[in-house]
Amino acid sequence: MRGLMQDWPLLIPKVIDYAAAEHGGRAVVSRSVEGPMHRTTYREVRERALRVAKRLDRDGIRVGDRVATLAWNTWRHLETWYGIAGIGAVYHTVNPRLFEDQIVYIMNHAEDRVLFLDLTFVPLVEKLAGRLPTVERYIVLTDAAHMPRTTLPNAVPYEDWLAEADADFRWADVDENAAAGLCYTSGTTGEPKGVLYSHRSNVLHATMTVMPDCFGLSARDTVMPVVPLFHANSWSLAFAAPMAGAGLVMPGPKLDGASVYDILTSERVTFTAAVPTIWFALLQHMEKEGGALPDLTRVAIGGSACPPAVIEAFEKKYDVPVLHAWGMTEMSPVGSICGIKPEVQTEDYEKLLGVKATQGYTPFGVEWKITDDDGVALPHDGRTFGRLKVRGAAVARRYFKREDEEILDEEGYFDTGDVATIDADGYMRITDRSKDVIKSGGEWISSIELENLAVGHPDVAEAAVIGIAHPKWDERPLLIVVPKAGREPGRDELLEFLRPRIAKWWMPDDVVLVPDIPHTATGKILKTALRERFKDYRLPTAV
Ligand code: ADP
Repeated sequence: MRGLMQDWPLLIPKVIDYAAAEHGGRAVVSRSVEGPMHRTTYREVRERALRVAKRLDRDGIRVGDRVATLAWNTWRHLETWYGIAGIGAVYHTVNPRLFEDQIVYIMNHAEDRVLFLDLTFVPLVEKLAGRLPTVERYIVLTDAAHMPRTTLPNAVPYEDWLAEADADFRWADVDENAAAGLCYTSGTTGEPKGVLYSHRSNVLHATMTVMPDCFGLSARDTVMPVVPLFHANSWSLAFAAPMAGAGLVMPGPKLDGASVYDILTSERVTFTAAVPTIWFALLQHMEKEGGALPDLTRVAIGGSACPPAVIEAFEKKYDVPVLHAWGMTEMSPVGSICGIKPEVQTEDYEKLLGVKATQGYTPFGVEWKITDDDGVALPHDGRTFGRLKVRGAAVARRYFKREDEEILDEEGYFDTGDVATIDADGYMRITDRSKDVIKSGGEWISSIELENLAVGHPDVAEAAVIGIAHPKWDERPLLIVVPKAGREPGRDELLEFLRPRIAKWWMPDDVVLVPDIPHTATGKILKTALRERFKDYRLPTAV
């Protein structure tokens, strides 16, 4: 027997319809790419998204077609998302930090028909356009006054293009399981793979993240996604904020410490989210220049492991609680977040910090397990680590155009490629990416844990640990450190700093200071490049 309730499909346009209806006057503030701050509302965003939809329709864009964006977080980028999804087409966010060949690869693979791009990226795209045969039109997200001379075929300033349509349009009536968004994994190994989100998965995922122990968004919040729309859906915030009726602040192209501080405080942001490198920069800026974050009530940090020192700095110095989150493109992306369950609540801050440094537990909509290499489930005892596998309402089932490739196990779980422990209270701790763990004498050393500890040293700006071949132990850890400006911590000093905090056999065999560490397009330490750079490195212990 079927239920007798209405069929109300979970479609992305419903999110902006809701925001416009219930929270229509709520501010959407952006730092524009042209420079000045720009202010609009959900009501206007919806209206302009309807015009984007109507105008795309007139350009012949149809249900299922891919429309790419190469843009910072601004109101215009937001409008294009809702407009593209609103005609049943698929927004494809292109990460400008990818290598040029990767951008060409993913756009051809996606067969993007239109590209919306920011002024910043016009020179880049002019170089690539000859290799993008499927793109029929380039729409530069600016007005006629700021439109540069360009060789891009069929290029037009967004505002002129948009002015050719009114908002008298009905959102396409598509199935909630229809494709709505496309994002490629950054492909640090192998070709990038396309994750194809549906309307339903995006709406459910956003609903999950709004919940109190997840991001906990409300109409009283002002939300700033520093995490770009092109990094795994800006962790849902472009949907979750309007769904909650929260105000939105879009930081545009300026993501350095000073600019982030400036917009956080001047726009009185209450909730923000980004990868650790952004917060390293903000904290360093505040260390130098002073300042306070009186309006910020919490900060979500994820994308790579957040060192306890960063959590402590936010919480103790600036009184801003940290929500450590874990996830991946294939999970839309949120997989877990470190809310505090009553069973782990304690007055002892050191102990609480130990919990907060874990990647937390799943929100409703995600299930997980850890297994050994044969797929046998392992205990949740906080000690046994294994492959972390997930299934849920917003987890990938297949990759785009690789539909014959099975990526789930027989129970429907997807292998995240992460190695983790889960404790009895449900808190998960990532030990490493499976390809980054250091195998020493048959045991595993967690590079993440060593890195987290090393950045707790006052002279260390960033740290990476990689395995270096060793004749006796197979691999031993090498600590690579970027010192803070003007500092030069010694090898022995750094090792002494680690000594009381780790097991003896985890001690790095050597330390090198470097001016910088390479990052992936999503701000993670690029271990493959470091391993390449240090492939001939000989440890002093390897004699
Ligand atoms: P990409 O692989 O394209 O850079 P993803 O955002 O999909 O982008 O990367 C997902 C991976 O990032 C996870 O599988 C995990 O290894 C890592 N990661 C994400 N959040 C955390 C976290 N809080 N702690 C440790 N690792 C994390």
